[in-house]
Amino acid sequence: MNSQKIDVIEKMHIDGQWVAARSGRSRTIIDPFDQSEIATVPEGDREDAELAIAAARRAFDEGPWPRLPGPARGEKLHELGRLIAENREELARLESLDTGKTVEESRWDMDGIADIFKYFAGLADKDGGEILQPPFENATSLLVREPVGVCGQISPWNYPLLQASWKMAPALAAGCAIVIKPSEITPLTTLKVTELAERVGFPPGVINTVLGPGHSVGASLAESHDVDLISFTGGIETGKKIIQAASGNVKKIALELGGKNPNIIFDDADFEVAVDYALNGVFFHAGQICSAGARLMVQDAIHDRFVSALLARMKKIRLGGGFDEKTQMGPLISAEHLAKVERYAAIALNEGARLLLGGKRPSDPALQKGFFFEPTLFVDCGNHMRIVNEEVFGPIISVERFATEEEAVRRANGTVYGLSAGFWTRDPDRIHRVSRALRFGTVWVNDFNIYFAQAPWGGYRQSGMGRELGRMGLDEYTEVKHIYQNHDARPMNWFGV
Ligand code: NAD
Repeated sequence: MNSQKIDVIEKMHIDGQWVAARSGRSRTIIDPFDQSEIATVPEGDREDAELAIAAARRAFDEGPWPRLPGPARGEKLHELGRLIAENREELARLESLDTGKTVEESRWDMDGIADIFKYFAGLADKDGGEILQPPFENATSLLVREPVGVCGQISPWNYPLLQASWKMAPALAAGCAIVIKPSEITPLTTLKVTELAERVGFPPGVINTVLGPGHSVGASLAESHDVDLISFTGGIETGKKIIQAASGNVKKIALELGGKNPNIIFDDADFEVAVDYALNGVFFHAGQICSAGARLMVQDAIHDRFVSALLARMKKIRLGGGFDEKTQMGPLISAEHLAKVERYAAIALNEGARLLLGGKRPSDPALQKGFFFEPTLFVDCGNHMRIVNEEVFGPIISVERFATEEEAVRRANGTVYGLSAGFWTRDPDRIHRVSRALRFGTVWVNDFNIYFAQAPWGGYRQSGMGRELGRMGLDEYTEVKHIYQNHDARPMNWFGV
């Protein structure tokens, strides 16, 4: 046990009440560091989801929240952001307990989350609509944005509260009512923020946090005809199911799916900085990041030197519990996920990739109860390999060698994923060419894995649809209404009347 005494909430929140699952079932939440039990939470099912949806429906159709002026909604969101900042340490510790990531990483998450609530609080009163010029005399046209309605929101386990906040904050700023379903294995921080929101005083039914598995609670949200928008972050295969389930009432769909993100190192890059970011780009949260730069592409002239430098640094990465200040990389989230990462290491070997480091669980006796996997480096990789094309979501780097800029771009684009890409060069003309040629939702130039509230995030190709964060992240939660008024209506006599 990480020996942390942290209060956890063991209820879910429906229509302003803290409740158990209607079935009485529960689920044990474990610490991935040593599998010790950290909480017992309700295991909801379709019935609980339907109660939460009905509460959100009432709150949206009849309650004050969507009708509140933007500045008043903004005030509440700002207060929630302030409370998150005030409770930063407790939230960070809770997140680390639940996910295994280092507390330092969780603190960064919490800072980002507080910023997200404050950013969308600031946007809540900025939309003044638009006046159009109709091609007729004595007429006016207004464009107004209105909240889309009841939103189902499904979040994953890797950044539980960060991903939830990307959905909750803009939906609330727009005036929607929400039903959020965190991953069944990492619900604790979302519950805590629901409690903070209760303190702020959102009307009952505006924020419902319902717990349970994807195939029942998540599927109910995606299928329900009372839900107007479904926002999902998770894997591609689940995303495809969501699209099908959502078609029943043609609800709006926002999807943030996986990534296989190339990090391209040209031979004129700042070598030391690029090595540093190649590590940071992958080994945060043991590689369980949708934007991990797990696909490293290095130009011929510096390839061998770069791999040697990377290897030397990777050997020093210190594995351990998230609460140990010396730990640089924690465990994977679950036994099931560890088995998946192990399978990919075996696949890479079978495909002919050359293993330079790791590829297995660590032998340290202190880590045996946790879901640890060693930092792993494969070289001699190519586009034809699964290790290059599929999302592993673990601490594995596959290195590809390339000769020319054209080859690097062509190969980088040759994947079903299009979430993010980064490249390193000092050549200004190349920066312009390559940043436009890479077909990804985010392109980082001389950096990697940077997110902030102001910049939209989302994927090309099968990495998703729609955008979170930024102005566009708010627009996702609105409908556009055109109001046309004729100030001088006269008989048309069109039908000879
Ligand atoms: P997952 O798809 O297994 O589950 C995500 C969520 O969907 C969970 O809450 C789960 O309970 C729910 N779910 C599962 N089946 C469902 C169904 N049939 N209907 C409705 N909901 C269902 O993904 P995961 O393993 O929790 O998360 C890892 C994945 O998330 C990775 O692929 C990663 O790339 C992706 N991700 C993407 C981003 C992004 O911004 N693009 C961010 C974080 C994670």
